[in-house]
Amino acid sequence: MPTEEYTCVACPKGCTVEVEFEGDEIKDISGYGCAKGKEYVKNEFHDPRRILTTTVKIKNAKYPRIPVRTETGVPKDELDCCLDKINEVELEAPVEVGEVVIEDICGTDIPVLTSRSLERVSEDAKEKSKVQL
Ligand code: SF4
Repeated sequence: MPTEEYTCVACPKGCTVEVEFEGDEIKDISGYGCAKGKEYVKNEFHDPRRILTTTVKIKNAKYPRIPVRTETGVPKDELDCCLDKINEVELEAPVEVGEVVIEDICGTDIPVLTSRSLERVSEDAKEKSKVQL
């Protein structure tokens, strides 16, 4: 029967967990140190997801980019689509932490949110800060 190995990342112990499967069906799971790890591996097998953290361009702010993240994990297969869509975005300061950047990324029904606030900075202030550097 085919098997697949996973490293559980639900705690620092990092157990190696083996899944025996037939098609889409899990037949046996072994090597986990606790129920949380068993659940983690079931999810990894059936519907692996990742929280995507990256940055987007922002105008009129102290920095040229602002960090953003998906609210929850998005399907691993959609990560490339999500990155492409996020790369098309350009925000304009001021922006508050937790602001919605994209409401429904790649049809996942999951929003992308800003991870910090950035206030608006005038062009004069930007020029002055460059001179000081
Ligand atoms: S299986 Fe349990 S003990 Fe092992 S890494 Fe995962 S959460 Fe930690």
